[in-house]
Amino acid sequence: STTTSPSLSGGEPEIVIVGGGIVGLVLALGLLRVGVKVKVYEQAQSFREVGAGIAFTANVIRCMNLIDPSVPVALRSSGSVATSNGGAEDPDDYLRWIDGYERHREDPRKQRLFYKLSAGPRGFEGCRRDQFLESLVKCIPSDVVELKKRLETIEDKGANQKLLLRFRDGTTAEADAVIGCDGVKSRVRRILLGEDDPASRPSYSHCVAYRTLIPMAQAIEALGEYKATNQHNHVGPNANLLHYPVANNTMINAVAFVRDPNKWSDDSQTVAVGTRDDVKAAFKGWCAPVRDLIERFPDTVSKWAIFDLWEYPVPQYNNDRLCLAGDAAHATSPHHGAGAGQGIEDALCLSTLMREVVAETREHPETKAKAITAAFRTYDAVRRTRSQWLVNSSRRVCDMHQQAEWADDTKITKAETVFEEMRDRTFKIWHFDYEAMLKETLQGYKQRRGW
Ligand code: FAD
Repeated sequence: STTTSPSLSGGEPEIVIVGGGIVGLVLALGLLRVGVKVKVYEQAQSFREVGAGIAFTANVIRCMNLIDPSVPVALRSSGSVATSNGGAEDPDDYLRWIDGYERHREDPRKQRLFYKLSAGPRGFEGCRRDQFLESLVKCIPSDVVELKKRLETIEDKGANQKLLLRFRDGTTAEADAVIGCDGVKSRVRRILLGEDDPASRPSYSHCVAYRTLIPMAQAIEALGEYKATNQHNHVGPNANLLHYPVANNTMINAVAFVRDPNKWSDDSQTVAVGTRDDVKAAFKGWCAPVRDLIERFPDTVSKWAIFDLWEYPVPQYNNDRLCLAGDAAHATSPHHGAGAGQGIEDALCLSTLMREVVAETREHPETKAKAITAAFRTYDAVRRTRSQWLVNSSRRVCDMHQQAEWADDTKITKAETVFEEMRDRTFKIWHFDYEAMLKETLQGYKQRRGW
């Protein structure tokens, strides 16, 4: 019998990426580089990230470089800066945890540094998300990306047919395979798992984040020069306040994380308008520099409800022709500041696999479907445990940052014992052996292909 639908067999793999966030765009560059025919469909009218900051570890930047050297170039051209400014005397970047609570000492501006971890020189680079996304878009040929395309369904018409994607505007597209990079509320995840699977939707982590950028001069007034120009995480009971410099050191990115015992009223709307007064109330009883910084928050400030996949992790990131990457696969709370970094590791794993699929299908076009399936299975086996560990660990880190004991002078020594654990967890992220991951990836693929 004849069919009008194009057949899956033959030609280079055609892959659709749903979602043009950081992970979707970085993955698109990686797939283009290995010879995949790629299309990215993004629901938004234009590429708009929030004007908040994001930081990447040196390790993740090395993964970006392996995916496509234009990615770290884009990052640096978007004004990324090291998150510490120790100068020639101390070129390392650090994570610093500092006592944020009011201790009624003689000098109310004095804060004790609880702990710091060196990430090495340029161990962390912070940038503005919107500027990074803009620089990434410029690296991608314009016909690869289509905006205003909100995916609704994916129809599998049988083994030898392409997948049919339907968008809200009534248009369709076809692909050999689809990778969902469509974020925490992923549509592709719901299609893959089915609506009834509890992992198809994220749940509320009972923590909200108030995010803002503050001009450096104002940050220095509140915090003093050293604290303003270097990353600090002020910890205390039921909240913590994190900041680091961005935008060529002209601003700081400040995020106030606040515990919320209540239910979030509307799952479809996870960003609400908060006020400076809300933040002030949450940090009542904290030390003067923290309170002074909050005074410099704008009158209204976005309040992000943090949803993640901790409660119901995704049982499998793939089926034969669909897979999930980035927040779509493993949306996490942001307390390790490493969610996007995990998505970059996913993109490195997937680009490496697709390089093998392209090489194999050049010689044996009829094996394309099997090769893609083997690639997705390998990806799930290599990436799932680590990325879901991060989701767990981020929740644990939030508990450590926000222990009630921070408010109790008699319990400070006990509270500080968490930093041993903090170090181990942080090092598992920073010192990830991505070379070993790539080895495991290639071995896994070859095994599944029976080589
Ligand atoms: P997203 O950025 O959410 O992109 C998904 C895209 O898909 C969007 O553009 C969306 O419009 C599109 N889309 C959704 N549905 C559809 C559809 N049906 N059809 C078409 N398109 C669709 N990570 C770090 O590594 N370092 C940090 O310092 C850091 N700090 C953070 C601070 C906070 C406060 C938060 C909340 C997160 C932080 N993260 C950090 C995590 C990081 O923001 C995310 O992991 C990252 O943005 C995920 O990227 P993504 O591309 O997977 O998803």
